[in-house]
Amino acid sequence: MTHPSKIVVWFRRDLRLSDNPALAQAVAEKAEIVPLFIFDPYLLHHPETGSGRVQFLLGCLDSLQKNLEYLGSTLVRRYGEQPQVLVQVATELGADAVYWNEDSEREWRTKTDCCAIETLKEAGIKVRCFQSEAVLPAGGKESYDLKFFTPQWYKFLQGPIALRPTHLPFLQLSESTSSLKSLQDLDLPMTAQTVPVAGEREAHRLLHEFLDRKVSRYLKSLSVATQASQYTSRLGAHIKFGTISVRTIYRQVLLKRQSATAWEKKNLDGFISRLFWRDHFAQKLRNLPRCETESYLEAFDSVPWSQNDRHYRAWCEGKTGYPLVDAAMRCLNATGWLPFRLRALCATFFCIDLFLPWQWGAKHYMQQLIDGDVAIDHWQWQSHAGVSNRGRSWFRVYNPVKSIDKIDPDGNFIHQWVPELANTSVEALSLTGRMNLDYYSPIVNHQEARRRALALLEPIKRKYQQL
Ligand SMILES: Cc1cc2nc3c(=O)[nH]c(=O)nc-3n(C[C@H](O)[C@H](O)[C@H](O)COP(=O)(O)OP(=O)(O)OC[C@H]3O[C@@H](n4cnc5c(N)ncnc54)[C@H](O)[C@@H]3O)c2cc1C
Repeated sequence: MTHPSKIVVWFRRDLRLSDNPALAQAVAEKAEIVPLFIFDPYLLHHPETGSGRVQFLLGCLDSLQKNLEYLGSTLVRRYGEQPQVLVQVATELGADAVYWNEDSEREWRTKTDCCAIETLKEAGIKVRCFQSEAVLPAGGKESYDLKFFTPQWYKFLQGPIALRPTHLPFLQLSESTSSLKSLQDLDLPMTAQTVPVAGEREAHRLLHEFLDRKVSRYLKSLSVATQASQYTSRLGAHIKFGTISVRTIYRQVLLKRQSATAWEKKNLDGFISRLFWRDHFAQKLRNLPRCETESYLEAFDSVPWSQNDRHYRAWCEGKTGYPLVDAAMRCLNATGWLPFRLRALCATFFCIDLFLPWQWGAKHYMQQLIDGDVAIDHWQWQSHAGVSNRGRSWFRVYNPVKSIDKIDPDGNFIHQWVPELANTSVEALSLTGRMNLDYYSPIVNHQEARRRALALLEPIKRKYQQL
């Protein structure tokens, strides 16, 4: 078989040199390589895109470019519709093939990839796609059925890691490599968020920091606001943009496990199970693309959800009058990150207490989260709204006042993010609504709102239970 002589390697959500199957194959074929990233207007201007996350992406690309330059190559950045840009770049630079790793974050991606394959083939350019994560092509229900998905997941993660190249062919470019490097270049608003350090080296540093110093406190920290920010891995945004592969993380966890104590093993297993659910959500969305915008249990989309814009604004801005919800929302907006428990609390408050449609809340999270990932975000929102799961905890309702005891027992998180309450004792905070706090009045009464919401939602649940 004759190999292509020049290959465009199209980077998407795999912004790394290690364990990158498309890149490793192009290197193995001893071809000249054109590393390419395309900014597509659809993704850049999607209503769920946030400048903080794009700033992080730009950091990943700068780091990728430096790593490519170190090996003798560079990164070509282009803007435009992906199928057309691919043909243009391949033709301009004389490439006879385009390689990429599969990804399906949105239905748009799947459709664009199909269109790119056709357009490239029509232009006589060869295409090869590689599997770089444990997500299979969309099939019937089988591919996300746990009985089928679980062994496939482990099998993929135990498979060989693609080799990191040690050098790359020199790439001569007539164009400047300094364009498309800032939010301004991309016509996006600036961000006030504190964007974390990006890139492959930082992803590996975070992983080792987690395994060496944090892991024994992982599970216990998950429910406590100020602890979770210190003891979870903070790898979310890196996994989202692929500066490290889940397979690499899994291998390092297995290595750590060999010398771990029983308690550390328990924590490592808890961490792995979260990576598993991440990939399972991705698989489910690949199979059920309609759930990017619609509820899995469709009847819930006909519920007369509230359209109260004043409530929506108060929630987004952290002015609901519930200090824990407000602190969480302000932390999310400023840092682009929130621990799981608080993401969950604010989501149920949104869907049950405020009775607003999950799609609105998911959109705000996606705009703010640096690790915003459609599959995890939208399935988690659906699950917390009770519109996707048939399990025992169909409608999870957290009490936004009583939760302070567990999530912020010393009040430090609220004091940090709600300066108006910096001098209010945690005992007083735990009585919100019954104390005369010099603060916003609660926009809804939790008990009444909960009763009203469940009265409308429970009958739909019962219909599904009878099916
Ligand atoms: C309403 C809601 C929305 C969420 N939206 C997102 C999102 O857009 N992106 C995102 O990465 N996570 C999301 N999560 C899951 C979880 O809160 C974050 O992954 C986690 O808090 C990120 O911190 P970390 O990177 O330190 O994760 P760690 O706890 O160190 O976990 C490691 C990785 O495992 C995955 N993971 C962890 N918890 C979960 C989970 N419960 N479900 C699925 N995957 C998980 C993530 O990739 C995470 O980075 C959401 C949770 C809720 C309740």
